[in-house]
Amino acid sequence: MTRALAPDALGPTICAGEILVEVVASRPGAGFREVLDLTGPYPSGAPAIFIDQCARLGGQAAMIGAVGDDDFGAVNLDRLRRDGADLSGVAVDPDRPTGSAFVRYRPDGARDFVYNIAHSAAARFGWSDAVEALVRRAGHLHVMGTALSMQAARDVIVRAADIVLARGGSLSVDPNLRKEIAHDAETEALFADLVDRAALCLPSGEELSRAAGIAMPEAAVAALHARGVGEVVLKRGAGGATLFLPGGIRYDAAAFAVPEVDPTGAGDCFGAAYLTCRRLGMAPERALDYACAAGACNVAVRGPMEGAATRAELDAFIAGTPRRAS
Ligand code: ATP
Ligand code: MG
Repeated sequence: MTRALAPDALGPTICAGEILVEVVASRPGAGFREVLDLTGPYPSGAPAIFIDQCARLGGQAAMIGAVGDDDFGAVNLDRLRRDGADLSGVAVDPDRPTGSAFVRYRPDGARDFVYNIAHSAAARFGWSDAVEALVRRAGHLHVMGTALSMQAARDVIVRAADIVLARGGSLSVDPNLRKEIAHDAETEALFADLVDRAALCLPSGEELSRAAGIAMPEAAVAALHARGVGEVVLKRGAGGATLFLPGGIRYDAAAFAVPEVDPTGAGDCFGAAYLTCRRLGMAPERALDYACAAGACNVAVRGPMEGAATRAELDAFIAGTPRRAS
């Protein structure tokens, strides 16, 4: 049976995981072993970027996580609140600082990170009355692979998935695998179980094969459809994206031609735009265009959440921006 996405009217899209500030090195190079010019703090954390983009597009969206009682926390809370996200599931930890990620691009576009997540407020949240009340009115749960390596997020995701699905809501997964974050066998098994209950999977590059457990891309897509994932959207960076629907239906979308200033967060904005457009009733191929536009708007500015665009901004962007030759 193919699973479908639940409409926005059922309740907000929720996402549990790390809320971080990001600090970006101004010059490309290798790592952080020298004195560098840095910019930031920018609001960040893949789940938080995702929820912010959902909210900016006019979808109901709510974050589950924690920040410290400090300025880095305020940077995130102020932004999410400004953009209309529901923060009832975000705790303020009095004892730990807000999580952080330092990122430096290499000349070839690869990234080095220094994270402070595990020992920060970002990893210290859990099931609470406020979280339960939110989950019980949620319409969709989006799961980030990065969050599964955090025990706190993992516990919340496992409980929330059962509740959201039981009330007719839906599930999506972004494998979002980072080389710095290793997954153990238990996490892999949990990930596979979530894929088996998802309506939408949003892999990037070789994550498609990881998500399906099958090397060949065509076979991997077919396997995900056979497991009931109705919509598989493959992200290919500046190469654009492809949407695969059951029955061999495929839509290719070329990326928009923008300067790549800071690609961090593109995948999150892309996924959030696709999901939100679909939950608001838009057809899949049209949602794919909005997703590509959201990803492109995000890469064109520095800072992982700075390019999250509204519907009106995306309409103007689509009307005025050529596509890259693919
Ligand atoms: P991340 O995990 O770093 O946030 P990702 O690997 O999940 O990203 P990408 O494939 O990098 O996702 O980006 C998602 C989408 O954003 C792409 O499919 C594309 O539509 C758009 N995009 C990304 N990079 C560019 C770019 N340089 N130019 C134009 N569009 C881009
Ligand atoms: Mg990604």
